[in-house]
Amino acid sequence: MNEENQVYFIDSDKLPPTALERKHRLEQDPSFRTNHMEYMEGMQVIQSDIKDKVLRAMEEYDYDAYTAGDVERALSHESCSIEDFKALLSPAAAPYLEQMARKAEELTKNHFGNTVYIFTPLYIANYCQNYCIYCGFNCYNNIRRKKLTFEEIEHEMQVIAKTGMEEILMLTGESRAYSDVKYIGEAVKIARKYFKNIGIEIYPVNVDEYQYLHECGVDYVTVFQETYNTDKYETLHLMGHKRVWPYRFDAQERALMGGMRGAGFSALLGLDDFRKDALATALHVYYINRKYPHAELSLSCPRLRPIVNNDRINPRDVGEKELCQVLCAYRIFLPFAGITVSSRESATFRNGIAKICATKVSAGVSTGIGDHEEKYEGKEDDNVGDEQFEINDDRSFGKMYEDMEQGGLQPVLNDYIYV
Ligand code: SF4
Repeated sequence: MNEENQVYFIDSDKLPPTALERKHRLEQDPSFRTNHMEYMEGMQVIQSDIKDKVLRAMEEYDYDAYTAGDVERALSHESCSIEDFKALLSPAAAPYLEQMARKAEELTKNHFGNTVYIFTPLYIANYCQNYCIYCGFNCYNNIRRKKLTFEEIEHEMQVIAKTGMEEILMLTGESRAYSDVKYIGEAVKIARKYFKNIGIEIYPVNVDEYQYLHECGVDYVTVFQETYNTDKYETLHLMGHKRVWPYRFDAQERALMGGMRGAGFSALLGLDDFRKDALATALHVYYINRKYPHAELSLSCPRLRPIVNNDRINPRDVGEKELCQVLCAYRIFLPFAGITVSSRESATFRNGIAKICATKVSAGVSTGIGDHEEKYEGKEDDNVGDEQFEINDDRSFGKMYEDMEQGGLQPVLNDYIYV
C-alpha cells in the first residue's frame, strides 16, 4: 500500500507525525489534494453522456426563477416534464405541498398499490480508506474498527433471518484493502442462504467485479453520490478512491452493465444546495432509466445526521417540509421509481411518508458492526465496531410491520423468485 492509500485507524493524537501533517495539509491546502475529476489507476472508464447532461442541467437550474404559475401548470400536467420537475423542487412550490402530496399519493397507489417493502441493513466492516470529513467511519477518525469473519456474518444473518426479514442490504466501509471484492462476494453467498433479496452498498467497482458480485447473489447496488456539485465534493472527500467524482457517478451504470437487476441513487441532503442535488439525483435516475429501461431503479433521500467525533460539519438546514417536498417531487417526476426512507428519519415522519410516496423502509437497524444479537436479543457483546451515525427510528422489524399494517399499508418482504 503506498503512502497515498495508507490507512490509519487510530486516535488522531497518536498518528505518526507524517500522517498528522498529511491530514492537516489535506484539510488546509487544496493544491495538496489529487485531482478529483481524474480517474485513478485501475478505475474503468465507460462511455456515457449522462454525467454531462446531469451537470449541465444542474448548473443551469435557477430555482428562484420559478413562479406559482409554473408550479400550478406542473401539477395540472398528466406527465411531469423536466421543466415541471424543476418547478416542483423550487421554493415557489412550498405553499403547494398538500396538492403535491395528493398527486404523489395517487401516483404511488397507481404504480405500487398500498404496498411498502421492509428490509434491514447489515454492516459487515467499518474499515475505510477514504477521508470524507462528514463521516464517522473516515480513516482518521478514532473509532472501534471491525470486520466480521464469515462465521460472525452467518451468525448475524441467522439472528436477522429469525425475525422473518427476507431482504438485506449489506454494507462495508470503503476499503479494498480490508474488505476486498472476494470477501464481499463470499459474504453475499452466505446471505443467499437466508435472504431472498440482496443489495450491497460498498465502494464502487468495475463492471467485471459487479458481474462477479451478481453471480454471488447480489440483486441491486446502491451508491450515494453524496453531492453532485463537483466543486463541493472536492472539499468534502479529501483522500482515497472516493475522491474521484466521475468514477462514483458511473457506478450504477457499471453495475447494470455487470448484470445487476437494480440500482439505487442518492445525494446526502444538507451537504450542499439540496434543491440542485435533488434535481441531479432524479435526472441521474431519469437518464439511466431511458438507457436501461429494464432496470429497477430507486432513490433514497438521507439527510446529514450527527456523527461520532465530528463537530466540523454544520448541515445546511433541510427541514421535514423541504424533505417532503423533494420526495413528492421525486414521485411525480419518476412514478415508477422505488423511494426508500431510512431510519435517519423519525417514526412519525416515516409512517406519514410511507402513505404518500415512499415504497421502502428499513427496520431493526443498527449501523454498528456485529451487534445484532446484542440489539435484537439483549445479549451483551464488547467485540463490536462503532456505529456510522445515530439513527432516529429504532423500531424492530415486528413493530415496523405492525405499524405499517395499522397505517393501512401492506408490508412486503420480497416480491422476487429465482427459478
Ligand atoms: S462516507 Fe463512506 S467512504 Fe466516506 S469515510 Fe464514510 S464510510 Fe468511508
